[in-house]
Amino acid sequence: MPLNKTDSLFARIGQALGREKTSTADNKEEIRYAVRKINQHFYAEKPNAELIAKHANVIVDLLLSMHNCSDDFELLSHILITIREILDCDKKTRRPLVKALIKNDVCSFLLHNLRAVADDRGLGQEVALQIHQVLAIIGHHDKRLPLKARLFKTIGSTIGLLRVYSYNAKICPVILTLLKIYAKNAITASAICRAQGLQPLLRLALTLDRRHAKLQKSSITVVRYLTQTKKLAARATSTSIVRDILAVVFLMDKSQGQNRIRTIKLKENLLKVLLNLVKSKNGRLQFLEANGFYLLYELAMNVLQNDNFSTFLDLSCHIMIHCCPRQQLPLENIFSPVRYTLPQGYDYIVTNELMNAEPEICKESDDMREKSKLIFPPSEQNSPGEQRARPKSSSNSTTTTTARASSASKSSTTVTTANRLKSSKGTRSDKKSVESKKKPNLNRNKQRQISTTLDDNDPDETEEDTMGLAEDEEPDDEDSGKSDEEDEEDEDDEDDRFTKENFTNSSIPLPNNEPVTRDAYELSVAYEQFFDEINDPINILRLKRAQTIFDSRTQSLLSRLFENTLPASLTRLAERSRFCYKRMPTNLFCQTYSILAKSTKSAYCFTKLAFPDVFNALSYPRYELMQKSDERSVRTTLLSDIHRILYPPSIYNRTVYDFDTLVNRSTITTLSNDDEQRCRTQSAVDHLMFDSQFESANLRKAIQVTEEEYDLILRPDVNTFRHHQWFYFEVSNMRHNLTYRFNIINFEKINSQFNAGMQPVMFSVHDALNGRPFWRRIGEKISYYKNIYGRKKKVYYTLTFNIQFPHDNDVCYIAYHFPYTYTTLMTDIVNWTNTYDRTNIYFRQQVLCKTLSENDCPLLTITNLYNQNDLYQDENQTIPLHERTYIVLTARVHPGESNASWVMKGIIDYLLSDEPTARILRDRYIFKIVPMLNPDGVINGCSRCSLATKDLNRQWSSPNPTLFPTIYHTKGLLAYLSTCSSRPITLFCDFHGHSRQKNFFFYGNDPRCHFLGPAVGRSTITKLFPKLFTGIPGFSLQSCLFTMRKQKEGCARIVVWDEFKIDLAYTMEATYSGFDVGLYKGIQVQISTLQIIGHDFCQVLIKIADLELKTAETIVPFEELFITNDGYQPEKRAPNGDEKRRSSSSASSSSSSSSSSSLSSTDGDAR
Ligand SMILES: [Zn+2]
Repeated sequence: MPLNKTDSLFARIGQALGREKTSTADNKEEIRYAVRKINQHFYAEKPNAELIAKHANVIVDLLLSMHNCSDDFELLSHILITIREILDCDKKTRRPLVKALIKNDVCSFLLHNLRAVADDRGLGQEVALQIHQVLAIIGHHDKRLPLKARLFKTIGSTIGLLRVYSYNAKICPVILTLLKIYAKNAITASAICRAQGLQPLLRLALTLDRRHAKLQKSSITVVRYLTQTKKLAARATSTSIVRDILAVVFLMDKSQGQNRIRTIKLKENLLKVLLNLVKSKNGRLQFLEANGFYLLYELAMNVLQNDNFSTFLDLSCHIMIHCCPRQQLPLENIFSPVRYTLPQGYDYIVTNELMNAEPEICKESDDMREKSKLIFPPSEQNSPGEQRARPKSSSNSTTTTTARASSASKSSTTVTTANRLKSSKGTRSDKKSVESKKKPNLNRNKQRQISTTLDDNDPDETEEDTMGLAEDEEPDDEDSGKSDEEDEEDEDDEDDRFTKENFTNSSIPLPNNEPVTRDAYELSVAYEQFFDEINDPINILRLKRAQTIFDSRTQSLLSRLFENTLPASLTRLAERSRFCYKRMPTNLFCQTYSILAKSTKSAYCFTKLAFPDVFNALSYPRYELMQKSDERSVRTTLLSDIHRILYPPSIYNRTVYDFDTLVNRSTITTLSNDDEQRCRTQSAVDHLMFDSQFESANLRKAIQVTEEEYDLILRPDVNTFRHHQWFYFEVSNMRHNLTYRFNIINFEKINSQFNAGMQPVMFSVHDALNGRPFWRRIGEKISYYKNIYGRKKKVYYTLTFNIQFPHDNDVCYIAYHFPYTYTTLMTDIVNWTNTYDRTNIYFRQQVLCKTLSENDCPLLTITNLYNQNDLYQDENQTIPLHERTYIVLTARVHPGESNASWVMKGIIDYLLSDEPTARILRDRYIFKIVPMLNPDGVINGCSRCSLATKDLNRQWSSPNPTLFPTIYHTKGLLAYLSTCSSRPITLFCDFHGHSRQKNFFFYGNDPRCHFLGPAVGRSTITKLFPKLFTGIPGFSLQSCLFTMRKQKEGCARIVVWDEFKIDLAYTMEATYSGFDVGLYKGIQVQISTLQIIGHDFCQVLIKIADLELKTAETIVPFEELFITNDGYQPEKRAPNGDEKRRSSSSASSSSSSSSSSSLSSTDGDAR
């Protein structure tokens, strides 16, 4: 019975080991005998799982008992054979052994011995191989193995083995597997390179011998790891690696046969290495020298329609874009053409900003120009506006033929390269001499000169590798390559590149006469006026429903056209709640808007009112689905861009719109809109016409590239040279049967929802005049990618989309998102003022302060009138004013986030409605709303800042009253409430838009994550309010974050939480894009959805209305409520006292907001 026998053999070993202390030669002999026998048994019959589970520890003990194995290679070898036999078994059998090996750190033991055995000429070599075999199998279970390999200094011997057994089909794979495990760690990878490991690996990776395909695949992966960081890549490019890889990729392409699929995979992997390599300056240089551009482009074009090559194509595009020398944007000066003179004493802010821009705007250096000319056809480098010369090979057909001819002639050189590589075991100097011969050859083939130096895109790049064993941490750098693509999104959509700078620049000194802190007296003098609701005599407010100021008797043509389409857009609202806000009649809106626009003060002269704004454009009445990404079209787009770089277009390159030359030339005093007339008249001009001199618009320049393609450049925020994200412009004079391509070429964010199904929005005046006044999503073949513009550390991104306009000679508006201008807000306020129910509601509009450019910053107050003889049946409905607490809501601190305004509009509409929930909210709370914290930014088409060049949402810590009045005074309001008023603020929420995420969600403050260390004594209740939204359509709890990072020090929610001790202080982020959860899954966000989010926000507020959050006693049950996931059940856990109020409100909440609360409870259960 072999099993029993093996069993007993193991038992004998166990006993012998037990006796070890009195170790004798006999003892050792017995062990040796047993091990040999076991090996014989295993050879005859595979070990079974039961046996291994029983004896795994004995094996490990036995191995570890060999403290000094150098004197007994034979025994060690036999033990390793036993282990190998077991490890070769199925998973189940070997698992106990692997566990025991890892647990006892056998890896360290083996590595420790590896050095000793490797020096031995005889059996030691054999043992060294066996150790490698064991390590290769169990290595990936030990996360610290790469570190250990460095510590025990065994990398050299591993590389040594690799050199010896390079083409050994049995041994080489083992070594490669182990190297793969090692090289994943960047520091160990660097150690491998130092041990000269790259050369033999590269030789294997670039073999053209099909017999070694497997080895080739593994070694390519190792090489990829060995070039994973910039430093590693820089080190690797000290050889001719880039050129060699290109040569092999090209040769494989030519020699493809039945092994086509295999070849594709190999080529992809080689390109991945190449992508790593070109991240270093030297790599890019080699790539250009080897004519990599034309080579890859040709390879890519040949397989464009083949889906098997999609990854190959993507990688090729990436590499090519990465290797393009940065070009400057076709602008004289990237600084904002709109300047605003800051108050006296603050000029330095703009001066600083100008200095920051300096490296960007410095005259294109002749040096750089020369270099680029050498690489690319010179016409591409012409200064903006100049006509491009037609290069000889500009038409498509010639392109391919030239490329093909050149590559054919090249193959001879590349073959030699590959052969040399394969055969060469020579030294470096040997290689170099071959290279130097080859270089001119390649150049002659192409008849194109090549630059020898590149503009350095990475000034920080250091060629010196300083990493060593001293760095002890274990960064598994597998992802390091991705890191710059990673979404660095944070709460306010701030790009990290600017965060730091904003942060350091944010402390703008206060003028001497401005006090830093304000006492209660001062606060009360300044802000008492904004709290009239408390002082107003009740009787004054008991008015009958007032007549509206505007009479809607006059029915213009326009209003008739509009009105018949109104209900359709509201069906979505009706679906989910019977609530329907009071929409202002269009003609009335139009009149009001036109009047109010006169008092909107901009930093430069507007020439018109935008049609969709002045006529109150609607949401498209149907769902608009997220676009499915069409990878093939994206690739085609990218390749066509590369084609444009290689073979610049000849016919057009004309500037058709230049804001810089138009700014402030306008003499128009009364703004109006004549789009209707323009739609009817034909223009003699043969290109698209653009306009952006109106509120919130920001197109800077339009350049016609071909008949149907236009490059567009956006204006930066006023007084800056950056923050390009928002866009809004008018386009006209189009032909409906053409497909236009727009490229907006100066975005700065590293990624965009435009790559995730989002489309821009468009409004057609022609459609509007025919009864379809809708903003709708448009654009095909949308793609967002890094382009070739920029300098130094600055890079730009392109948004490209194709568009087919619905009509000839139309006037269309295209925007990043549904615009909501300052004048729209003021018009809405007039509408609210004229329509609210004066018998029940207290609504007040005041001017909180003036902005820098003297616009009013409105403050709205909403609550219920307090009626003793209440209209409602329930006597407890109305709570005396002095018992109500405050809810402070703000929005649009970032001017580009128009979605925040639509949510805010939804909230205000709802709060002023006669919905029962709204009534309860008005009963419980006094709402203080600052709907637009940054009117100046909104008006001037900025994306992020105010006129003072700063992100206002970083100024809350100590807002400068002169530069940031809206923040200063909003904070003043909060200070007044917390200092002078006994009534607390229940909740603060600042509304934002998020450009890189879907759905809507919250950011809050977790006191445990405070950047100054855990905030002791503060409640963690903050997480609970967002949880109440579970189940609300479009809400994503997963996206909510509760961090308090240092970079956010000056942002609203953190300062409000810190300084005024408001636990429920939030940032709400609404998507620009669409939804991937819940009811709205797969649809793009629309104006109506954003407004519904506002309504839902109110309906969730009612849930906290029931819970008194003032005292700790009530916080506990409130928290428990969610921990147990019972859903919302106030009946069970009502706070003590005031029984009546509780029951009435919970009854009303369950009836009125039934949709949201029932949804939330079901979802809660499901979790
Ligand atoms: Zn924001």
